[in-house]
Amino acid sequence: MSSPFNRRKFISSAAIIGTGLAVGVPHIVSAGTPTARPAILGGPKAHSGTFPSWPVEEAIEENGLTEVLRSKKWGRLDGVRMAKFETAYSKLLGVKHSLGVSSGTSALTTILGALDIGPGDEVVIPVYTFVATYNVVVLNYALPILVDTDIESFQIDAAKAKAALTAQTKVIMPVHIGGSPVDLDAFVAMGKQHNIPVVEDACQAHLAEWKGVKVGNYGLAGAFSFQSSKNLNCAEGGAVTTNSDDFITNCYTFHNQGQGGRSTSFSTGVGTRGTNLRLTEFQGSLLLSQMTRVVEQSNRRWENAQYLSRLLQEIPGITPAKLYPGTTKSAYHLYMFRYDKSRFAGLSREKFLRALSAEGVPNSAGYGQMNKSAYVTALATNKHYLKIYGEKTMKEWLERNQCPQNDVLTSTQSVWFFQNMLLGTKNDMEQIAEAIGKIQKYAAEIARK
Ligand SMILES: *Cc1c(COP(=O)(O)O)cnc(C)c1O
Repeated sequence: MSSPFNRRKFISSAAIIGTGLAVGVPHIVSAGTPTARPAILGGPKAHSGTFPSWPVEEAIEENGLTEVLRSKKWGRLDGVRMAKFETAYSKLLGVKHSLGVSSGTSALTTILGALDIGPGDEVVIPVYTFVATYNVVVLNYALPILVDTDIESFQIDAAKAKAALTAQTKVIMPVHIGGSPVDLDAFVAMGKQHNIPVVEDACQAHLAEWKGVKVGNYGLAGAFSFQSSKNLNCAEGGAVTTNSDDFITNCYTFHNQGQGGRSTSFSTGVGTRGTNLRLTEFQGSLLLSQMTRVVEQSNRRWENAQYLSRLLQEIPGITPAKLYPGTTKSAYHLYMFRYDKSRFAGLSREKFLRALSAEGVPNSAGYGQMNKSAYVTALATNKHYLKIYGEKTMKEWLERNQCPQNDVLTSTQSVWFFQNMLLGTKNDMEQIAEAIGKIQKYAAEIARK
């Protein structure tokens, strides 16, 4: 875990924390660099090294890709690797079926296609998500209903999601944002009570667990992304997971031009709609190679994130995103926390983030207010939407999408760190905390700069 070089410092700070006393990060700061000024004011960087780079590639990747190349079997209809990957991924997640598709967006598209979602249908999604969650709904001319955020967890607010259901709601699509599970008990109960399928957007949540069971098992289906920034990476790719025999067949058919079963015939398909969202053998090979490390990597992120949370909880004005009680593991695709400038001498979040960058700690303010973006509000005047839903409904839709808690979270508070940073050492985590401690100590001076 920590190299011998780091171990002594780790043990000493772990011991400090282990006392259970209210020991602030300033103690950790002073243990390392007693008089250090923030880097943005000319002091040394708290984190002068680099975080682990992403992606990881070694001989196993290269050999696997060369094998596919030489085999001359490059597509899933020709080779065996995609099927092999699907078996391995199902086993890893403890789910009955997986289907590899061309992206996380394609996974969601396949699920909505297999459910035959279309014009007139409403799909409940969080406002706090990557725009793909919204796009897949709109591509089907269904109405995306954007639900406010639980500011403590950064996740979709389950009570508000329930209040957003109507007779038109055809799918409830929570997103495990940052890789941390939504309140799955609430969503599973909601789906059962109203007889509406729950689809988990688990694109950021590989190997995350709720009550010891991996996410992607709880809804009718789960969607995962293997895009290059994600915790399992094959450049572009994704997977649908489900425990339903019928549903996986429908998904396979949809993603394979409506061709039923595993056939590669030239006949027309079964069902009514389909497209080509197949993944290639190259990606199947990359995924099998990357999967040799995925468990170790996810354990490391989880352990480092928990350690970082213990350190950050000691800093007034820094509040790590809450995990719901059913969470037995987060994938920590993102490490999310809230920043309260009133505990930092009024230093704005933007200046705080710049000071953090200067310390050698990469960061982002994260998602904004999707419901208020021009991209989303333009839907209210889209000619097809006006034709399908009418002016009144589209006007009301803008009102329904108000998300006051999300406005508060995203305008001044939210901060992210990235998954590769959590693949570092305990010492890296201490240096992140040290950077924030320094900035807090000198916040008034930084604010004047
Ligand atoms: C990445 C992501 C997607 C889309 O995945 P792609 O593979 O990039 O298409 C969908 N939803 C969420 C929450 C994501 O983070």
